[in-house]
Amino acid sequence: MCRAGAAGGRGERQSRAGGSEFRLKKMEFSREKRLKGRLAGDRRGDLYPHSLQFYLQPPTENISLAEFENLAIDRLKLLKGVENLGVSYVKGSDEYKTRLEREIRKLKFPYKALVEDDYDARRKDHISHFILRLAYCQSEDLRRWFIQQEMDLFRYRFNALTGDLVEKFLKYVNLSYGALTARSLPAVQADERLQPLLNHLSHSYVGPDYSNQKNNGKISLEHIDALSVKSFPLCMRQLNKALRDNHHLRHGGRMQYGLFLKGIGLTLEQALQFWKSEFIKGKVDADKFDKGYAYSIRHNYGKEGKRTDYTPFSCMKIILSNPPSQGDYHGCPFRHSDPELLKQKLQSYKIPPTEITQVLELVKGMHYQLACQKYFQLTHDVDDIGFSLNHPNQYFAESQKLLSGGREVKKEPSEPESSQQKLSSQKSTNSCSIPTSSNTEADTELEELDAYFAED
Ligand code: SF4
Repeated sequence: MCRAGAAGGRGERQSRAGGSEFRLKKMEFSREKRLKGRLAGDRRGDLYPHSLQFYLQPPTENISLAEFENLAIDRLKLLKGVENLGVSYVKGSDEYKTRLEREIRKLKFPYKALVEDDYDARRKDHISHFILRLAYCQSEDLRRWFIQQEMDLFRYRFNALTGDLVEKFLKYVNLSYGALTARSLPAVQADERLQPLLNHLSHSYVGPDYSNQKNNGKISLEHIDALSVKSFPLCMRQLNKALRDNHHLRHGGRMQYGLFLKGIGLTLEQALQFWKSEFIKGKVDADKFDKGYAYSIRHNYGKEGKRTDYTPFSCMKIILSNPPSQGDYHGCPFRHSDPELLKQKLQSYKIPPTEITQVLELVKGMHYQLACQKYFQLTHDVDDIGFSLNHPNQYFAESQKLLSGGREVKKEPSEPESSQQKLSSQKSTNSCSIPTSSNTEADTELEELDAYFAED
């Protein structure tokens, strides 16, 4: 049973017409442009009489896959914005409300209860909610995250209603609940076009894929250790250290770190030199490296096999897939490290104890990327990092931009902050893109690539 539709956290309401299933059958998706569905005149008003919705009924119109994807991306951006603001500002504070309203307006969702002519915004709100409900009802973790963000969004919108509108709204929704979306999953899973999209959506990274190597060849191998301290996120710093210490990384680490290095600009020749020089310091001789490992590195750069140009892993991919086991150093330290070990690591990097506590609080609340943003903030001595972290290569690029003076950063006086207020006052500037079917292919190919790397 899925409670993903619980805008108020209490589950989807049973229909007055006798048991409202999620009527996906009527929500058909076509490859063509939407054939029908937009309503004209008074019927628009009938469909969405309130700016605030309780998502009582699923949408029943035809919708193209392109629109499906666009609506989902925008809602995902919105919910990520809600999450960021929820840990950066006191919920309900003026600043929180101002920033959330800005986010809602930017993405063209209904933002003011009194705006009459916002059919498109209400429709977008309605359909996008149900798409993400499908994507996020597939596991308990995903459900919890989705419900939390939807609840915060709903709370903000509800509190913005005038007394009259609250009364009207409550009368209209006639509260009484059941939860039901997961029941529609078998029907969705049977649709080969939708299921990969929904899976990717719930694990999706939003932002550029860093496959375009603008800096190709600009990184010198001698600088990697220094860069790992200054500009690598913790996951990559950890991998670099493990490689230097052990002269070896197991395949999960080689994949994660190798593609990251490719993304920051290492050429194929540099990558071969980098890995070889380190591995031959350990148990692998030059001949074994050339035979066993060089192929996989060339493969990584699209020079072997299917010649796919593999892209560096996003935070979501690192956090949600292939967890490290004993002897592995890949993964996200904020997600996969024992909190005590993480604490020790941060202490060894001279992070002050109070700040470590804040990082650990974020980790405890499962806000791994926000914990990483806090780490960025602390290691770069800024109060406003100015971006929303989605990708290790984004972390690197932003760090380099900052250290080279490429962007101005707000530095506020360092006063003790209360509770969780302004743990990080990042702007919600998610630039989102949902992996499309080509990512599905890429994933399959990555699994194949994985096999090449499987030799330890
Ligand atoms: Fe790496 Fe992302 Fe985890 Fe930061 S949040 S450590 S960039 S995976």
